[in-house]
Amino acid sequence: MAFDANRPDLTIGVIGTGAMGRGIVQVAAQGGMNVMMTDARPGAAQEARDFVAKMIGRAAEKGSMTAHDAAAAVGRIKVVESISEFKQCHVVIEAIVENLDAKRQLFAELETIVSPDCILATNTSSLSVTTIAAKLKSPQRFGGFHFFNPVPLMRLVEVIDGLQTEDWVSQALMAIGKRMTREPVRLTDAPGFLVNQVGRGFTLEAAHLVHEGIASFVDVDRVMRDVGGFRMGPFELMELTGLDVTQPASELIYNQFFQEPRYRPNLIMRARYEAGVLGRKTKKGFYDYDAEMKPVIPPEPPAPKAMPASVWVSPADERGHGVLIELLRKMGAPLENVESPSAKALILVTPVGDDATTCATEQGLDARRTMAVDTLFPMVKRRTIMPTPITERTFRDAAHALLASDGVPVTVCRDSPGFIAQRIVSMIVNIGCSVAQSRTADPSDIDKAVTLGLNYPNGPFKFGDVLGPPLVHKVLSSMYRIYGDPRYRPNIWLTRRAKLGVSLLTPEP
Ligand code: NAD
Repeated sequence: MAFDANRPDLTIGVIGTGAMGRGIVQVAAQGGMNVMMTDARPGAAQEARDFVAKMIGRAAEKGSMTAHDAAAAVGRIKVVESISEFKQCHVVIEAIVENLDAKRQLFAELETIVSPDCILATNTSSLSVTTIAAKLKSPQRFGGFHFFNPVPLMRLVEVIDGLQTEDWVSQALMAIGKRMTREPVRLTDAPGFLVNQVGRGFTLEAAHLVHEGIASFVDVDRVMRDVGGFRMGPFELMELTGLDVTQPASELIYNQFFQEPRYRPNLIMRARYEAGVLGRKTKKGFYDYDAEMKPVIPPEPPAPKAMPASVWVSPADERGHGVLIELLRKMGAPLENVESPSAKALILVTPVGDDATTCATEQGLDARRTMAVDTLFPMVKRRTIMPTPITERTFRDAAHALLASDGVPVTVCRDSPGFIAQRIVSMIVNIGCSVAQSRTADPSDIDKAVTLGLNYPNGPFKFGDVLGPPLVHKVLSSMYRIYGDPRYRPNIWLTRRAKLGVSLLTPEP
């Protein structure tokens, strides 16, 4: 089908003018398209139109568009009484309530109104595009057009091919997305599409860590900001989004994937969801909030002062040994440069994926004096260390004092395969790889979508390539071995590229 997405008179119908619909109206009008908008609630579309006119006016005041262009954009928006006036639309975008029956009913009605070559698109965030289209007379002209909130600020839009979507439809949506000055990314229908699928690695693994007693949510947030380089920790992010959104989405993705363990939800999120302790919107979530809605953050415990008499670093992990020795030399630490530790030495190990207990027992070290140090990430803004369950307090404190002696804060977590950052980032990489393996999207598009849609410092493939695919593979394999939980099995995309020693971006011919 020849569809001219760039025709000057392209008319978009938007149904549902709440948070998302009004944003879509704004970017469509600013992109030079005619827009018709309507909503089931009387007066809602007019309110939304006035809101959009205000937003476009503000953009002109700030100088991001001329007053003339702003007036023209507002002039292209028309409020209509009902979808019966959508006859002349070339594309209709639905942004109504997230309910399968409501959406199906709406599209069935639209099919009786619009022309046969009008594209029908849904902005659903969690329902299957294929399922919404299944009962249509012509499901091949139906696709997903998933915007992010707030639409004018979030440049990503996911263009989703349902099982029966024809190529011209997605190509047209990609072109229209660009006209709206968005960054469209094309993918095939999958639970959570692309961004919401990868995002599970960050939030759910963090919740599993806390549930397992490894660290407090505050410490996880600190580590993921300072060590992982994320703008916000996973719990801060959930506070902002609200567990009323995150928890149902997590359960839906898990169940749509037939209980794939990688997406397994967690009780600490579920309990808060049930209790209505949702985050900022209920003024209480994982964090408490003060009168000015600032989170109440417990101060970090001060670093102990008593330094170790001597330190021995295990050479078992050559890379980590090198990194830690270099840092300790700079700090002037009393290093023991011998094959095995003296009877009183603090013993430091540098695991990748193993816990401190596994390191101590497998390397034949005295677990009462062993502490593990995470050397996989830059140790510049914060360091993470962990004891075995029987490490003596003096050795734990001595390791803490030593690693904090140059003023860098140290987080002490309980024994954990992969500390905190290693396991959360590896889960993000692993899910990214499974999105590529299943041909949901191309690796470079996955990275683009994740950095634009989630604001992560890197997409899964860049993260994996910077750390090194063999090391990410090692983290996951060790976790899988220690926990015996298929949740941590490395995806075959990652395994192959780690074995071959090539970039995770390496495509399959
Ligand atoms: P919203 O509640 O802010 O707005 C929905 C609007 O649709 C309301 O104005 C309502 O009156 C109207 N409506 C409901 N049923 C209707 C019907 N049958 N016909 C016409 N209008 C109807 O919701 P929202 O946050 O804008 O979400 C809309 C859609 O976008 C949902 O499918 C949601 O999953 C999806 N989405 C939301 C976000 C988000 O962060 N809010 C992000 C991406 C996608």
